[in-house]
Amino acid sequence: MEVRDNLEELEQTIHQACKRSGRTRDDVNIVAVTKYVSTNKALEAVEAGIFHIGENRVEGALEKWEACKNKVAFHFIGTLQSKKVKHVIGKYDYFHSLDRLSLAQEMQKRCQDGEKVQCFVQVNVSGEESKEGLDEKEVMNFISELKDYPAIEVIGLMTMAPFVEDPENARPVFQRLRHLRNEIRDKGFAHAPCRHLSMGMSNDFPIAIEEGATFVRIGTQLVGKEE
Ligand SMILES: *Cc1c(COP(=O)(O)O)cnc(C)c1O
Repeated sequence: MEVRDNLEELEQTIHQACKRSGRTRDDVNIVAVTKYVSTNKALEAVEAGIFHIGENRVEGALEKWEACKNKVAFHFIGTLQSKKVKHVIGKYDYFHSLDRLSLAQEMQKRCQDGEKVQCFVQVNVSGEESKEGLDEKEVMNFISELKDYPAIEVIGLMTMAPFVEDPENARPVFQRLRHLRNEIRDKGFAHAPCRHLSMGMSNDFPIAIEEGATFVRIGTQLVGKEE
């Protein structure tokens, strides 16, 4: 399947999910996750009209970044070791996995002249041990502590739902992230406008959209998977 055809199908599904939940299509951004595919495939996605590219490894993404950098926004969606922050700052426009102050501190150190990193705080809503992210109950405190790091702007929350056979079963996870987002947004922190929700992947994105996702991260269903 060509990326263009996949995108057309994806668009229809997104439109329907928006319609079912009374949302506007323009409020949902597609992040094409290209971690499984070649630079050419990533370029194909860009040509098909994709404006956001997501990658989870600094090294693996360099070639794609070089090829696509002036055409799209780059999203870092993986776990990041503090020592690799220097490779991310200045290259990536969004960072989806902020979950500890040591990382914020390193970002602060690497950002110069009022440069800011647009971050999502990653939350482990389901509590699965294998998942990264903060406990729901730690999030508010963590975000208030981030005010001491002016380079960090918390634009939203991110989660990965557990993989379930029926995506309907992931709905409570998305709902909880939305409620938490609302709670934080309503605090009106200057450093944490927290308007966005990064949630939903190939298997569960329609449900995530119904529950308020503003960034869906789609790999397999859009660009496929290459070995
Ligand atoms: C790989 C990945 C995705 C995309 O997964 P698909 O199931 O292929 O859509 C989304 N988010 C994160 C954090 C990922 O690591």
